[in-house]
Amino acid sequence: MRDFDANYAALQRRDPAVDGVVFVAVKTTGIYCRPVCPARTPYARNVVFYPSAAAAERAGYRPCLRCRPETAPFCPAWNGTRTTVERALALIEAGALDRDDVAALAERLGIGPRHLSRLFADHLDASPLQVAQTLRIQRAKRLLGNTGLSIPLIAHRAGFSSPRRMNAAFSRLYGRPPSTFRKGAKRLQRFATTNCTVVAL
Ligand SMILES: [Zn+2]
Repeated sequence: MRDFDANYAALQRRDPAVDGVVFVAVKTTGIYCRPVCPARTPYARNVVFYPSAAAAERAGYRPCLRCRPETAPFCPAWNGTRTTVERALALIEAGALDRDDVAALAERLGIGPRHLSRLFADHLDASPLQVAQTLRIQRAKRLLGNTGLSIPLIAHRAGFSSPRRMNAAFSRLYGRPPSTFRKGAKRLQRFATTNCTVVAL
């Protein structure tokens, strides 16, 4: 993890080089952002940096509805270096942990499950399962915004084991149900604006 001052300086210039590398959580609002978020830069004393969206969510922060940090690319700093973590992320993104468990994923990578969890803790400060959950929510949000599929079908396609699980995940993360993320859902627009105002303060 880079040091705080370097991260904060990157945040102040909205440096795209650290997009996906660090995530900015704001203690006063409970929301986390990408460093490129157009909202006003929060005071340094209110800021905590996390190395992944999953880590910020685990700490109880909700994603900003303006910069949508949960859709940020995963650690572009690793591009070009095919590390185990990068391969694991690609497999998780393809649904490896929606069908199988962490042990099976580790086996595909040729390492033990505990080693895999440690690598995730070191690089992303989150477990493989937490990362998988973040990706499921991201997929579901994309389907909610871009398709007219039914909620059960979206839950299935996004990798949730049931619509109830999807509902629970959305409630925990956003405090509202998946249906409010439908394209054209009026509440979303209002909520987004309110949320951004809060972030900008
Ligand atoms: Zn933001």
